[in-house]
Amino acid sequence: MLKTFASLIILFPVLYLFLPVYLTVFLLRKPLLLLFFCLANAAVIFYLSNRHSRRARGLKSETDSLQEKLNLLKDENFKEQKSNLYLQEKISRYQSLKKIVEEINKDMNLDTVAGSISSIAFSLVANNKGSCLLYLLDQDHQRLNLFKARKEERGLVIKEKEGDIFDAWVLRHSSALLIEDANNDFRFDLERPKSLDLRQVGSLASAPLVNENKFHGILRLDHPKPYYYTQDDLRFLLKICELGALAIENSKLFKAVHDLATHDELTGLFTKGYLCEQLKEECLRAARHHHPIQLLMLDIDLFKSYNDKFGHTAGDLVLKKISRDIAGALKGVHSFTARFGGEEFCVILPGMEKEKARLIAERLREKIAEGKIILRRQETGVSVSIGLAGFPGDASSFEELIQKADRAMYEAKKNGRNRVCPL
Ligand code: GH3
Ligand code: MG
Ligand code: MG
Repeated sequence: MLKTFASLIILFPVLYLFLPVYLTVFLLRKPLLLLFFCLANAAVIFYLSNRHSRRARGLKSETDSLQEKLNLLKDENFKEQKSNLYLQEKISRYQSLKKIVEEINKDMNLDTVAGSISSIAFSLVANNKGSCLLYLLDQDHQRLNLFKARKEERGLVIKEKEGDIFDAWVLRHSSALLIEDANNDFRFDLERPKSLDLRQVGSLASAPLVNENKFHGILRLDHPKPYYYTQDDLRFLLKICELGALAIENSKLFKAVHDLATHDELTGLFTKGYLCEQLKEECLRAARHHHPIQLLMLDIDLFKSYNDKFGHTAGDLVLKKISRDIAGALKGVHSFTARFGGEEFCVILPGMEKEKARLIAERLREKIAEGKIILRRQETGVSVSIGLAGFPGDASSFEELIQKADRAMYEAKKNGRNRVCPL
């Protein structure tokens, strides 16, 4: 339509110019001349329209090539925008590494550290979708144990407490695993995961928590849909695991050091130092809340001669047995027990009246006195003397309370041993 219109516009001035000539020739009645003019006119029209269509064709191909270039540019622009977004995401992820380090190292407690690691991976890699599971390795049995779980679906129950075949793979190979489509991954038997857990796993990214060749566990992300996780997600998960494994190792070392400082090696009871700290706090709390505290001081009777007679190793067995007896007698009772010295034990009983503490101490004394230790087919046994003092009744500070309980214990010794002596 546009073309016809354009042709008419061109034809019009031509006809307009030649019309006077036609009229003149027609009026002069010279048909040959008329024919000549008609042909000349047709030739001019043909030339002009030909030139016009050539130009139109040229313009069209130019427009097409420009359109092509525009499309290419649009495509490039789209790709550029996409890669910009991807880069921005990558930058923001790696910028968050500093925060991750701060977050997971802010507490030395293993529970808090593991909680932070799983929360970080779930939010930064999984976008809070699907689930994130952190398994810790039981070093003695080489078995995984589910330690932390973050889930999109709050009510979801994770039945695989020891991990599934994917986790077993990561444990066996000690390397990261990316499964883009769990239903089409030749490495795994597809029927097995379904039979173990009803939870749908479409895609998965999992990495070991390894520090200096020490395997601590697995951090695993899964999603019901396939192709949710990319290689880049796995790379970032590996970074989190690297930092996480170090934090877990530190928290385990911290716990080991703390345990050494607070627990006696032979009996597993608290140390004297830790008990004093606890007693100080308990006394302050008791003063605030106006409730009593009782303190028992136990000393094995004539233990030197027992050692001399049966040997030091036998004496150590007695110390262990007495610590078990104390734990048994105080089952369900709020208390702290420490090995206070060589063959002395100390028990804090917060919130307890003196008479009740005396009855407990009496029961414990009886139990120890009646208990027998068989050594080389010979029955042996020991007894204990127990001193009892209370706060605030007998003492106004935790130091004084210890002195008073000690004094009461020496009273028991003086009065013939194997007895409870309240102050
Ligand atoms: P008493 O009734 O007056 O308390 O007499 P005793 O012999 O228990 O008192 P004494 O304080 O003289 O002796 C304490 C003994 O405890 C000395 C030591 O051989 C023994 N002992 C201290 N620590 C340990 C230990 O870790 N293992 C063993 N087997 N014996 C210990
Ligand atoms: Mg002693
Ligand atoms: Mg003694």
